[in-house]
Amino acid sequence: MSDQAQTTAEGETPQPTYKRVMLKISGEALMGDQGFGLNPPTVERIAREVKTVHDMGVEICMVIGGGNIFRGLQGSAQGMERTTADYMGMLATVMNALAMQSALEGIGVYTRVISAIPMDQVCEPYIRRRAVRHLEKKRVCIFAAGTGNPYFTTDTAATLRANEMACEAIFKGTKVDGVYDKDPVKNDDAVRYDTVSYDDVLAKRLGVMDASAIALARDNNLPIIVFSLDEPGGFRGILDGQGTYTRVGG
Ligand code: UDP
Repeated sequence: MSDQAQTTAEGETPQPTYKRVMLKISGEALMGDQGFGLNPPTVERIAREVKTVHDMGVEICMVIGGGNIFRGLQGSAQGMERTTADYMGMLATVMNALAMQSALEGIGVYTRVISAIPMDQVCEPYIRRRAVRHLEKKRVCIFAAGTGNPYFTTDTAATLRANEMACEAIFKGTKVDGVYDKDPVKNDDAVRYDTVSYDDVLAKRLGVMDASAIALARDNNLPIIVFSLDEPGGFRGILDGQGTYTRVGG
């Protein structure tokens, strides 16, 4: 599929570049200026960005991290058993998913939270075919509890689910508008890549996603679009064939 929105006859609305996408955001994106937890106005702002893309008819999967609440590595560094700490991290992602569900449904977007760890009273268990059906019915599917396994991250979960759901791209929302050769916050002369290969991301440790996620995307030829979630209209703009971003992959 082309990177640009398809050309249409004059006056017609441009067709979105992708029909089904995965949006990956970190838990920290939900905490706003706070140092921890959830900031409801920030969650609502991101939900509105998602709605603008949903309104285009794009089928949307989401994975939200848990780093604003708990990270397994952080727990194990403080003496906790690593697997226990990782399960706590996975549970944190469920809380974030529920917050996003509430915000999306508050603005009229139907959603399902689908957990890799069954917790029937809270949300649906992950059943691939059922999730595909939700997408076809234009429900936003928020995949929670990561992969359901310790020693993984939600970047890998997003890549796994994106493959299973046949998403055409992963949209990785970050604080900056793409991938740079060095940290653009600390270096004025940092240069943004328009495109970069999976292998370069790995070899140069460009920090787009963790190595397992990049390898999984590479092996399945799944492009990763890195863009700024802080830019109002940025998510929709890319689907319209505009905006600034870096495309990782072929
Ligand atoms: N986690 C895990 N397995 C998974 C996904 C996540 O064990 O498949 C745990 C892990 O401890 C991780 C935490 O959940 O630190 C939160 O996820 P992540 O660090 O990816 O969140 P983000 O950095 O995106 O906010």
